[in-house]
Amino acid sequence: MRAIAKTEPAPGHIREVEVAEPTLGPGQVLLRVRGGGLCGTDLAIRRWDADIAAEYAPSFPHVLGHEFAGRVEAVATDVAGIAVGAQAVVNPHVNCGRCFYCNAGRHALCLQRRIMGCHAPGGLTECIAVPADNVFVLPDGTDPLVAAVIEPLTVATHAALERVPMDAGDVALVMGAGPVGLLHLLVARAAGAAEVIVAGVAADADRLALARRLGAVTVDQESEDLLAAVRRVAPRGADVAYDASGHPAALAAALPTLRRGGRLAVVGYCHAAAPFHSLPLALDEKEIFGCRAYNRGTWVRSTALSASLASELRQLVTHVLPFGEIDRAFSLLERRECMKVVVEPEGNG
Ligand SMILES: [Zn+2]
Ligand SMILES: [Zn+2]
Repeated sequence: MRAIAKTEPAPGHIREVEVAEPTLGPGQVLLRVRGGGLCGTDLAIRRWDADIAAEYAPSFPHVLGHEFAGRVEAVATDVAGIAVGAQAVVNPHVNCGRCFYCNAGRHALCLQRRIMGCHAPGGLTECIAVPADNVFVLPDGTDPLVAAVIEPLTVATHAALERVPMDAGDVALVMGAGPVGLLHLLVARAAGAAEVIVAGVAADADRLALARRLGAVTVDQESEDLLAAVRRVAPRGADVAYDASGHPAALAAALPTLRRGGRLAVVGYCHAAAPFHSLPLALDEKEIFGCRAYNRGTWVRSTALSASLASELRQLVTHVLPFGEIDRAFSLLERRECMKVVVEPEGNG
């Protein structure tokens, strides 16, 4: 069967390959994949960044894909509660379930965590066997393209409902107008935010326009002063902020826009130092929270949210391409000429 794989531990080398059909083991579910999203992590795997190469160390060819969904094709005899034919999305994080962090319900911090598509074979293939514990069944009739964005929606759900939850009526600032930023916008609006301000740069013009259609107030930080723009919406300052940009300047820009006692979630990964002045943080008792992926329980919330946000989530998928056009998919991503790109194994619909 066909799969999208990285074939060498070096920059590039991602193409469609033939891999063996999976076999169904105990405790597993066989999923016929309908589509999978690509994101910055896949770009980093394509570039073969040093930290990715050091942490993931897969064998080659390594099948990509940590954001995928499909239909249940078979279920092991020891698995109850998942029906053949059901639509489902997969939590790609496989946790040990026994360590200090797993026992505390903080699976994102599991010391043995392995991610499908990163440490283990991923879902950009025709069919994959996954642990039943990682399968979340979706309502019949769920749009497959909505299902394909539930994994990044779960990242935003963890940040905006669990790490830095807001109160109804709050003003939220989102740094970054990419898919993760706009997913924070949707979760914040669903949580009852009075206003959500999405901050981007001039090159994000199309993305900011989509954010406005999805209900945001937007700021182009290259032509507008962010602090003044936030103060126009929230004279006291924003209640919460989410950095989905991973830009080294984002913390220093976002922290002054928070009201006293405001909270900032660091969601985007920044691989450089991100300096900020600590005195205003101390004097105003502001707080900064790290956010890493999600916990198992986050999926229960995100799959429920995906149903109520279906039409908005569908608008985030700007490109749907067959496996055969994987090079084009990556170049769209690299040039940021897209929001979410979903790739599909042809003929699995
Ligand atoms: Zn991703
Ligand atoms: Zn663990």
